[in-house]
Amino acid sequence: MIAENLENVRARIAEACQRVGRDPSEVTLIAVSKTKPLSDIEEAMQAGQIDFGENYPQELKLKAEALSGTAAKFHQIGHLQRNKVRAIIDHVVLIHAVDSERLAAQIEAEAAKRDRICDVLIEVNVAGEESKFGVSPKDTLPLILEIAKLPHVHVRGLMTIAPYVEDPESNRIHFQNLHALAVDIKSKNIDNVSMDVLSMGMTGDFEVAVEEGATMVRVGTGIFGARDYTV
Ligand SMILES: *Cc1c(COP(=O)(O)O)cnc(C)c1O
Repeated sequence: MIAENLENVRARIAEACQRVGRDPSEVTLIAVSKTKPLSDIEEAMQAGQIDFGENYPQELKLKAEALSGTAAKFHQIGHLQRNKVRAIIDHVVLIHAVDSERLAAQIEAEAAKRDRICDVLIEVNVAGEESKFGVSPKDTLPLILEIAKLPHVHVRGLMTIAPYVEDPESNRIHFQNLHALAVDIKSKNIDNVSMDVLSMGMTGDFEVAVEEGATMVRVGTGIFGARDYTV
């Protein structure tokens, strides 16, 4: 089932790319495995999947340790508390949801100790939803200018969690806005900021996100099935 789902999602990404003249190799599929057992990740790996997204630091750490030495790459995609940076920093290729100077400063401190550079994305609350983490579009550039000063933190781009909607077309405007914001910030050529990653699109709306320029899509339910938070 997981292999079939992956094939289906990959085909839909390729079709979305084709509709807008993009090369599918520009889009990285992140399989969101939060709450799912290690055996599901292993099954996905058998089907060629390499990038996995997790929300809960302790869960990410346990899974990454269990799979160390394999090709698996882990992304911290959910909100991250400062006191959890240490648990994940050795296990992630990218932290997707940085939305404050204080969190960035904590990542800087932990990365500096290890003499490495940590890649991050800035989470933008493009739709202005009250309930969401993320920085507002107008505060994004000022935050990036501050984080750019941290030598062990490298801003690679932007991320957003679009609203939960019935019709994915409703989120097109938010994906367009995030893309436009990234283009604008990139044009400023800020040192230590590359703006080549746009992480947007989930199970319900990843095709629209790809049409609007996503370079990473985060798909959970569409690959692993519905999550059960009660176990
Ligand atoms: C859970 C989650 C996803 C995946 O959601 P699905 O709707 O299951 O595809 C993507 N991004 C973030 C930040 C998440 O927390």
